[in-house]
Amino acid sequence: MNNDEIKSMRKVFNNLKDKIGPLANSPEVKKLQERVIDIRRNAIVNNKELISTVQESFKSNDIDCFLANDELDAQNIILDIISKEISENNYDLDNIKIAKSKSNTLREIGIHELFAAKNYEIIETDLGDRILQLKKEDNNPVHPTGPASHLTVYDIADIINESMNLNLPPEPRHIMEAVREDVLNLLSESNIGISGANSIAANDGSLVLIHNEGNISIVSSKKLHIIVAGIDKLVPDLEDAISIAKLETVYATGKATTSYMNVISGPSKTADIEKKLLKNMYGAEKVVVILLDNGRSEAINECLWCIGCGNCIVSCPVYSILGNEFGYSSYLGGRGVAMSKFLKGDKTSFDSGIYKCTLCGNCTKNCPVLTPTNEIIESIRSDLNDNGIYMNEHKNIKDNIENNNSPY
Ligand code: SF4
Repeated sequence: MNNDEIKSMRKVFNNLKDKIGPLANSPEVKKLQERVIDIRRNAIVNNKELISTVQESFKSNDIDCFLANDELDAQNIILDIISKEISENNYDLDNIKIAKSKSNTLREIGIHELFAAKNYEIIETDLGDRILQLKKEDNNPVHPTGPASHLTVYDIADIINESMNLNLPPEPRHIMEAVREDVLNLLSESNIGISGANSIAANDGSLVLIHNEGNISIVSSKKLHIIVAGIDKLVPDLEDAISIAKLETVYATGKATTSYMNVISGPSKTADIEKKLLKNMYGAEKVVVILLDNGRSEAINECLWCIGCGNCIVSCPVYSILGNEFGYSSYLGGRGVAMSKFLKGDKTSFDSGIYKCTLCGNCTKNCPVLTPTNEIIESIRSDLNDNGIYMNEHKNIKDNIENNNSPY
Protein backbone atom coordinates (compact mmCIF):
# COMPACT_ATOMS: atom_id res chain seq x y z
CA MET A 1 0.00 0.00 0.00
CA ASN A 2 1.29 3.47 -0.77
CA ASN A 3 1.10 6.50 1.55
CA ASP A 4 -2.05 7.91 -0.03
CA GLU A 5 -3.81 4.58 0.38
CA ILE A 6 -2.75 4.39 4.02
CA LYS A 7 -4.10 7.91 4.60
CA SER A 8 -7.45 7.09 2.94
CA MET A 9 -7.72 3.91 4.98
CA ARG A 10 -7.11 5.81 8.24
CA LYS A 11 -9.83 8.30 7.36
CA VAL A 12 -12.35 5.52 6.70
CA PHE A 13 -11.30 3.69 9.88
CA ASN A 14 -11.71 6.85 11.99
CA ASN A 15 -15.26 7.31 10.68
CA LEU A 16 -15.94 3.67 11.43
CA LYS A 17 -14.67 4.03 15.01
CA ASP A 18 -17.08 6.93 15.56
CA LYS A 19 -19.99 4.78 14.43
CA ILE A 20 -19.05 1.58 16.28
CA GLY A 21 -18.26 3.17 19.68
CA PRO A 22 -21.72 4.37 20.79
CA LEU A 23 -23.52 1.29 19.48
CA ALA A 24 -21.05 -1.16 21.02
CA ASN A 25 -21.48 0.52 24.39
CA SER A 26 -25.27 0.27 24.40
CA PRO A 27 -26.74 -2.08 27.07
CA GLU A 28 -28.31 -4.33 24.38
CA VAL A 29 -25.01 -4.88 22.59
CA LYS A 30 -23.12 -5.39 25.87
CA LYS A 31 -25.59 -8.17 26.71
CA LEU A 32 -25.22 -9.69 23.26
CA GLN A 33 -21.44 -9.49 23.62
CA GLU A 34 -21.48 -11.44 26.89
CA ARG A 35 -23.60 -14.12 25.27
CA VAL A 36 -21.33 -14.39 22.22
CA ILE A 37 -18.19 -14.59 24.37
CA ASP A 38 -19.67 -17.68 26.06
CA ILE A 39 -20.82 -19.19 22.78
CA ARG A 40 -17.40 -18.83 21.14
CA ARG A 41 -15.42 -20.16 24.09
CA ASN A 42 -17.63 -23.23 24.49
CA ALA A 43 -17.86 -23.87 20.76
CA ILE A 44 -14.09 -24.00 20.36
CA VAL A 45 -13.67 -26.35 23.34
CA ASN A 46 -16.38 -28.61 21.89
CA ASN A 47 -15.33 -28.27 18.26
CA LYS A 48 -14.83 -32.00 17.62
CA GLU A 49 -18.33 -32.86 18.86
CA LEU A 50 -19.82 -30.04 16.80
CA ILE A 51 -18.13 -31.39 13.67
CA SER A 52 -19.72 -34.84 14.18
CA THR A 53 -23.09 -33.27 14.95
CA VAL A 54 -23.12 -31.02 11.90
CA GLN A 55 -22.19 -33.88 9.58
CA GLU A 56 -25.35 -35.70 10.69
CA SER A 57 -27.50 -32.56 10.53
CA PHE A 58 -26.29 -31.67 7.04
CA LYS A 59 -27.01 -35.20 5.90
CA SER A 60 -30.58 -35.04 7.11
CA ASN A 61 -30.95 -31.59 5.47
CA ASP A 62 -29.74 -32.98 2.13
CA ILE A 63 -26.53 -30.92 2.22
CA ASP A 64 -23.38 -32.72 1.07
CA CYS A 65 -20.56 -32.20 3.54
CA PHE A 66 -16.81 -32.81 3.18
CA LEU A 67 -14.02 -32.36 5.68
CA ALA A 68 -10.83 -30.91 4.22
CA ASN A 69 -7.63 -31.36 6.19
CA ASP A 70 -5.75 -28.65 4.34
CA GLU A 71 -5.72 -26.24 1.44
CA LEU A 72 -4.88 -28.88 -1.15
CA ASP A 73 -7.57 -31.20 0.11
CA ALA A 74 -10.17 -28.41 -0.14
CA GLN A 75 -8.99 -27.50 -3.65
CA ASN A 76 -9.28 -31.11 -4.84
CA ILE A 77 -12.76 -31.49 -3.36
CA ILE A 78 -13.92 -28.27 -5.06
CA LEU A 79 -12.46 -29.25 -8.43
CA ASP A 80 -14.08 -32.71 -8.22
CA ILE A 81 -17.48 -31.24 -7.42
CA ILE A 82 -17.26 -28.70 -10.23
CA SER A 83 -16.01 -31.12 -12.87
CA LYS A 84 -18.82 -33.51 -11.98
CA GLU A 85 -21.33 -30.65 -12.31
CA ILE A 86 -19.84 -29.62 -15.65
CA SER A 87 -19.99 -33.12 -17.12
CA GLU A 88 -23.49 -33.90 -15.76
CA ASN A 89 -24.88 -30.71 -17.30
CA ASN A 90 -22.73 -30.54 -20.43
CA TYR A 91 -21.56 -27.03 -19.61
CA ASP A 92 -19.30 -25.36 -22.13
CA LEU A 93 -15.80 -25.81 -20.72
CA ASP A 94 -14.68 -22.61 -22.40
CA ASN A 95 -17.29 -20.56 -20.57
CA ILE A 96 -17.36 -21.54 -16.91
CA LYS A 97 -18.23 -18.54 -14.78
CA ILE A 98 -18.37 -18.89 -11.02
CA ALA A 99 -20.26 -16.37 -8.90
CA LYS A 100 -18.35 -15.64 -5.73
CA SER A 101 -19.05 -13.66 -2.59
CA LYS A 102 -16.59 -12.35 -0.04
CA SER A 103 -14.78 -15.03 1.93
CA ASN A 104 -11.49 -15.10 3.83
CA THR A 105 -11.52 -18.88 3.69
CA LEU A 106 -11.70 -18.93 -0.11
CA ARG A 107 -8.72 -16.59 -0.30
CA GLU A 108 -6.93 -18.78 2.24
CA ILE A 109 -7.20 -21.82 -0.04
CA GLY A 110 -6.09 -19.84 -3.09
CA ILE A 111 -9.38 -19.99 -4.97
CA HIS A 112 -8.39 -17.35 -7.53
CA GLU A 113 -5.21 -19.15 -8.53
CA LEU A 114 -7.00 -22.51 -8.52
CA PHE A 115 -9.78 -21.38 -10.83
CA ALA A 116 -7.41 -19.38 -13.06
CA ALA A 117 -5.39 -22.57 -13.64
CA LYS A 118 -8.58 -24.36 -14.78
CA ASN A 119 -9.70 -21.40 -16.88
CA TYR A 120 -12.82 -20.89 -14.75
CA GLU A 121 -13.72 -17.23 -14.48
CA ILE A 122 -14.51 -15.90 -11.00
CA ILE A 123 -17.08 -13.14 -10.82
CA GLU A 124 -16.69 -11.25 -7.56
CA THR A 125 -20.16 -10.06 -6.60
CA ASP A 126 -19.29 -7.79 -3.66
CA LEU A 127 -18.61 -4.29 -5.02
CA GLY A 128 -15.43 -3.77 -2.98
CA ASP A 129 -14.08 -7.17 -3.98
CA ARG A 130 -14.99 -6.59 -7.64
CA ILE A 131 -13.07 -3.28 -7.57
CA LEU A 132 -10.04 -5.09 -6.14
CA GLN A 133 -10.42 -7.88 -8.69
CA LEU A 134 -10.31 -5.32 -11.50
CA LYS A 135 -7.32 -3.54 -9.95
CA LYS A 136 -4.25 -4.72 -11.80
CA GLU A 137 -1.87 -5.03 -8.87
CA ASP A 138 -1.73 -5.04 -5.08
CA ASN A 139 -5.31 -6.23 -4.79
CA ASN A 140 -5.36 -7.50 -1.22
CA PRO A 141 -8.26 -6.29 0.94
CA VAL A 142 -7.66 -3.92 3.86
CA HIS A 143 -10.73 -4.69 5.96
CA PRO A 144 -13.09 -7.70 6.15
CA THR A 145 -16.21 -5.71 5.23
CA GLY A 146 -14.58 -2.75 3.48
CA PRO A 147 -11.97 -4.44 1.32
CA ALA A 148 -11.34 -1.32 -0.79
CA SER A 149 -11.39 1.19 2.11
CA HIS A 150 -7.94 2.44 1.09
CA LEU A 151 -9.06 3.63 -2.34
CA THR A 152 -10.60 7.02 -3.04
CA VAL A 153 -13.45 7.49 -5.48
CA TYR A 154 -10.87 8.88 -7.94
CA ASP A 155 -8.73 5.73 -7.66
CA ILE A 156 -11.81 3.55 -8.09
CA ALA A 157 -13.08 5.51 -11.12
CA ASP A 158 -9.64 5.05 -12.75
CA ILE A 159 -9.69 1.29 -12.06
CA ILE A 160 -13.21 0.86 -13.45
CA ASN A 161 -12.65 3.09 -16.47
CA GLU A 162 -9.44 1.35 -17.39
CA SER A 163 -10.65 -2.22 -16.90
CA MET A 164 -14.12 -1.75 -18.38
CA ASN A 165 -13.14 0.74 -21.06
CA LEU A 166 -15.50 3.44 -19.78
CA ASN A 167 -15.27 7.12 -19.11
CA LEU A 168 -17.16 7.50 -15.85
CA PRO A 169 -16.83 10.56 -13.62
CA PRO A 170 -15.58 9.93 -10.06
CA GLU A 171 -19.13 9.57 -8.73
CA PRO A 172 -19.97 6.62 -6.44
CA ARG A 173 -23.43 6.05 -7.96
CA HIS A 174 -22.15 5.97 -11.54
CA ILE A 175 -19.46 3.50 -10.53
CA MET A 176 -21.86 1.28 -8.60
CA GLU A 177 -24.36 1.16 -11.44
CA ALA A 178 -21.72 0.35 -14.05
CA VAL A 179 -20.29 -2.50 -11.96
CA ARG A 180 -23.74 -3.82 -11.09
CA GLU A 181 -24.80 -3.98 -14.72
CA ASP A 182 -21.60 -5.69 -15.78
CA VAL A 183 -21.66 -8.21 -12.92
CA LEU A 184 -25.34 -9.08 -13.42
CA ASN A 185 -24.68 -9.60 -17.09
CA LEU A 186 -21.81 -11.99 -16.34
CA LEU A 187 -23.80 -13.77 -13.64
CA SER A 188 -26.58 -14.58 -16.09
CA GLU A 189 -24.13 -17.05 -17.64
CA SER A 190 -23.15 -18.64 -14.33
CA ASN A 191 -24.59 -21.82 -12.82
CA ILE A 192 -22.19 -22.21 -9.93
CA GLY A 193 -21.91 -20.09 -6.81
CA ILE A 194 -19.20 -20.22 -4.16
CA SER A 195 -19.10 -18.47 -0.80
CA GLY A 196 -18.01 -18.69 2.80
CA ALA A 197 -20.28 -18.59 5.85
CA ASN A 198 -20.32 -16.29 8.86
CA SER A 199 -21.43 -18.94 11.29
CA ILE A 200 -22.73 -22.52 11.23
CA ALA A 201 -25.34 -24.06 13.53
CA ALA A 202 -24.37 -27.68 14.13
CA ASN A 203 -27.62 -28.98 15.65
CA ASP A 204 -29.76 -27.39 12.96
CA GLY A 205 -27.42 -28.03 10.02
CA SER A 206 -27.83 -24.37 9.03
CA LEU A 207 -25.40 -21.80 7.67
CA VAL A 208 -25.74 -18.09 8.37
CA LEU A 209 -24.48 -15.62 5.77
CA ILE A 210 -24.80 -11.85 6.18
CA HIS A 211 -24.58 -9.17 3.50
CA ASN A 212 -25.82 -5.73 2.55
CA GLU A 213 -25.71 -5.85 -1.22
CA GLY A 214 -28.06 -8.77 -1.85
CA ASN A 215 -25.23 -10.50 -3.70
CA ILE A 216 -25.16 -13.61 -1.51
CA SER A 217 -28.81 -14.24 -2.36
CA ILE A 218 -27.75 -14.39 -6.01
CA VAL A 219 -24.69 -16.58 -5.35
CA SER A 220 -26.74 -19.00 -3.24
CA SER A 221 -29.42 -19.26 -5.94
CA LYS A 222 -27.07 -20.72 -8.52
CA LYS A 223 -27.76 -24.34 -9.45
CA LEU A 224 -24.81 -25.51 -7.40
CA HIS A 225 -23.80 -23.62 -4.26
CA ILE A 226 -20.45 -24.53 -2.70
CA ILE A 227 -19.72 -23.16 0.77
CA VAL A 228 -16.23 -23.33 2.24
CA ALA A 229 -15.88 -22.50 5.94
CA GLY A 230 -13.37 -23.11 8.70
CA ILE A 231 -14.27 -25.67 11.36
CA ASP A 232 -14.05 -22.81 13.87
CA LYS A 233 -17.30 -21.35 12.47
CA LEU A 234 -19.34 -24.07 14.19
CA VAL A 235 -21.60 -23.27 17.13
CA PRO A 236 -24.40 -25.39 18.62
CA ASP A 237 -27.66 -23.71 17.57
CA LEU A 238 -29.12 -21.32 15.03
CA GLU A 239 -29.80 -18.77 17.79
CA ASP A 240 -26.06 -18.83 18.60
CA ALA A 241 -25.09 -18.44 14.94
CA ILE A 242 -27.43 -15.47 14.53
CA SER A 243 -26.14 -13.83 17.72
CA ILE A 244 -22.61 -14.03 16.33
CA ALA A 245 -23.67 -12.56 13.00
CA LYS A 246 -25.40 -9.68 14.81
CA LEU A 247 -22.40 -8.87 16.98
CA GLU A 248 -20.07 -9.16 14.00
CA THR A 249 -22.24 -6.63 12.14
CA VAL A 250 -22.05 -4.11 14.99
CA TYR A 251 -18.27 -4.33 15.25
CA ALA A 252 -17.65 -4.47 11.50
CA THR A 253 -19.98 -1.73 10.30
CA GLY A 254 -21.30 0.29 13.24
CA LYS A 255 -24.82 -0.78 12.29
CA ALA A 256 -27.14 -3.03 14.30
CA THR A 257 -28.03 -5.32 11.40
CA THR A 258 -27.14 -6.00 7.80
CA SER A 259 -29.74 -5.62 5.04
CA TYR A 260 -29.79 -9.38 4.54
CA MET A 261 -29.18 -12.44 6.66
CA ASN A 262 -29.49 -15.69 4.72
CA VAL A 263 -29.98 -18.92 6.62
CA ILE A 264 -29.28 -21.90 4.40
CA SER A 265 -30.49 -25.27 5.66
CA GLY A 266 -30.69 -27.23 2.43
CA PRO A 267 -31.34 -27.06 -1.29
CA SER A 268 -34.36 -25.29 -2.75
CA LYS A 269 -37.51 -27.39 -2.61
CA THR A 270 -41.30 -27.27 -2.59
CA ALA A 271 -44.08 -29.62 -1.50
CA ASP A 272 -46.94 -27.47 -2.72
CA ILE A 273 -48.40 -30.06 -5.05
CA GLU A 274 -50.08 -32.88 -3.14
CA LYS A 275 -47.32 -32.57 -0.54
CA LYS A 276 -44.92 -34.28 -2.97
CA LEU A 277 -41.38 -33.10 -2.42
CA LEU A 278 -39.83 -31.48 -5.48
CA LYS A 279 -36.28 -30.14 -5.50
CA ASN A 280 -34.98 -27.14 -7.39
CA MET A 281 -37.65 -24.45 -7.19
CA TYR A 282 -35.86 -21.05 -7.23
CA GLY A 283 -32.68 -21.59 -5.20
CA ALA A 284 -29.75 -23.98 -5.38
CA GLU A 285 -30.45 -27.52 -6.51
CA LYS A 286 -27.37 -28.74 -4.72
CA VAL A 287 -25.65 -27.33 -1.61
CA VAL A 288 -22.20 -28.59 -0.74
CA VAL A 289 -20.30 -27.58 2.39
CA ILE A 290 -16.57 -28.04 2.81
CA LEU A 291 -15.40 -27.71 6.40
CA LEU A 292 -11.76 -26.72 6.43
CA ASP A 293 -9.29 -27.58 9.18
CA ASN A 294 -5.99 -26.36 7.67
CA GLY A 295 -4.21 -26.11 11.04
CA ARG A 296 -7.18 -24.88 13.05
CA SER A 297 -7.37 -28.02 15.20
CA GLU A 298 -3.76 -27.35 16.27
CA ALA A 299 -4.29 -23.64 16.92
CA ILE A 300 -4.32 -21.96 20.32
CA ASN A 301 -8.01 -21.98 21.35
CA GLU A 302 -8.12 -18.24 22.01
CA CYS A 303 -7.02 -17.54 18.44
CA LEU A 304 -10.21 -19.24 17.22
CA TRP A 305 -12.64 -17.17 19.28
CA CYS A 306 -12.56 -14.52 16.52
CA ILE A 307 -15.84 -13.62 14.80
CA GLY A 308 -14.13 -11.81 11.93
CA CYS A 309 -15.40 -8.26 12.51
CA GLY A 310 -12.07 -6.53 11.82
CA ASN A 311 -12.38 -4.08 14.72
CA CYS A 312 -8.92 -5.03 15.95
CA ILE A 313 -7.26 -3.59 12.84
CA VAL A 314 -9.27 -0.38 13.06
CA SER A 315 -7.59 0.41 16.37
CA CYS A 316 -4.15 -1.14 15.73
CA PRO A 317 -1.25 1.36 15.68
CA VAL A 318 0.90 -0.93 13.52
CA TYR A 319 -1.87 -1.52 10.98
CA SER A 320 -2.51 2.22 10.76
CA ILE A 321 1.06 2.63 9.51
CA LEU A 322 1.66 -0.55 7.52
CA GLY A 323 -1.84 -1.43 6.36
CA ASN A 324 -2.38 -4.94 5.06
CA GLU A 325 1.36 -5.60 4.96
CA PHE A 326 0.74 -6.45 8.64
CA GLY A 327 -1.29 -9.62 8.15
CA TYR A 328 -1.60 -12.75 6.07
CA SER A 329 -3.89 -13.12 3.06
CA SER A 330 -7.31 -11.82 4.21
CA TYR A 331 -6.39 -12.40 7.85
CA LEU A 332 -5.36 -8.90 8.75
CA GLY A 333 -3.50 -7.32 11.65
CA GLY A 334 -2.13 -9.05 14.72
CA ARG A 335 -4.76 -11.76 14.95
CA GLY A 336 -4.25 -12.55 11.26
CA VAL A 337 -0.50 -12.76 11.73
CA ALA A 338 -1.00 -15.09 14.72
CA MET A 339 -3.44 -17.25 12.75
CA SER A 340 -0.96 -17.55 9.88
CA LYS A 341 1.32 -19.66 12.09
CA PHE A 342 -1.37 -22.33 12.29
CA LEU A 343 -2.56 -22.00 8.70
CA LYS A 344 0.83 -21.82 7.03
CA GLY A 345 3.61 -22.30 9.57
CA ASP A 346 6.33 -20.38 11.43
CA LYS A 347 8.00 -18.82 8.41
CA THR A 348 4.73 -17.30 7.16
CA SER A 349 3.93 -15.80 10.55
CA PHE A 350 7.43 -14.26 10.57
CA ASP A 351 6.94 -12.85 7.06
CA SER A 352 3.46 -11.57 7.95
CA GLY A 353 4.86 -9.47 10.79
CA ILE A 354 4.87 -11.43 14.05
CA TYR A 355 7.75 -9.24 15.30
CA LYS A 356 6.13 -6.02 14.09
CA CYS A 357 3.42 -6.06 16.78
CA THR A 358 3.94 -3.53 19.60
CA LEU A 359 2.08 -5.80 22.08
CA CYS A 360 0.07 -2.74 23.15
CA GLY A 361 -3.10 -4.80 23.60
CA ASN A 362 -5.34 -2.24 21.88
CA CYS A 363 -6.75 -5.05 19.73
CA THR A 364 -7.84 -7.04 22.78
CA LYS A 365 -9.54 -4.00 24.31
CA ASN A 366 -11.46 -3.42 21.09
CA CYS A 367 -12.29 -7.04 20.33
CA PRO A 368 -15.90 -8.04 21.00
CA VAL A 369 -14.83 -11.51 22.11
CA LEU A 370 -11.71 -10.28 23.94
CA THR A 371 -9.24 -12.28 21.86
CA PRO A 372 -5.93 -11.84 23.71
CA THR A 373 -3.95 -11.29 20.50
CA ASN A 374 -0.96 -9.67 22.21
CA GLU A 375 -0.58 -12.68 24.53
CA ILE A 376 -0.99 -15.11 21.64
CA ILE A 377 1.70 -13.24 19.70
CA GLU A 378 4.08 -13.33 22.67
CA SER A 379 3.60 -17.07 22.96
CA ILE A 380 4.14 -17.59 19.21
CA ARG A 381 7.28 -15.44 19.30
CA SER A 382 8.64 -17.64 22.06
CA ASP A 383 7.99 -20.76 19.93
CA LEU A 384 9.55 -19.14 16.87
CA ASN A 385 12.58 -18.09 18.87
CA ASP A 386 13.01 -21.69 20.08
CA ASN A 387 12.86 -22.75 16.42
CA GLY A 388 15.58 -20.26 15.45
CA ILE A 389 13.24 -17.76 13.79
CA TYR A 390 13.91 -14.25 15.10
CA MET A 391 14.91 -10.77 13.96
CA ASN A 392 18.67 -10.50 13.41
CA GLU A 393 18.56 -7.04 15.01
CA HIS A 394 17.17 -8.60 18.21
CA LYS A 395 19.85 -11.26 18.20
CA ASN A 396 22.58 -8.61 17.78
CA ILE A 397 21.26 -6.71 20.80
CA LYS A 398 21.10 -9.91 22.85
CA ASP A 399 24.67 -10.86 21.82
CA ASN A 400 25.92 -7.36 22.63
CA ILE A 401 24.38 -7.49 26.09
CA GLU A 402 25.93 -10.91 26.72
CA ASN A 403 29.35 -9.94 25.39
CA ASN A 404 29.61 -6.21 26.21
CA ASN A 405 27.07 -5.67 28.98
CA SER A 406 25.50 -3.14 26.64
CA PRO A 407 22.97 -3.37 23.83
CA TYR A 408 25.34 -1.39 21.56
S1 SF4 B 1 -9.79 -10.70 16.77
FE1 SF4 B 1 -11.62 -9.74 17.66
S2 SF4 B 1 -11.65 -7.65 16.81
FE2 SF4 B 1 -10.25 -8.86 15.54
S3 SF4 B 1 -11.51 -9.62 13.85
FE3 SF4 B 1 -11.53 -11.18 15.44
S4 SF4 B 1 -13.35 -10.76 16.69
FE4 SF4 B 1 -12.95 -8.91 15.48
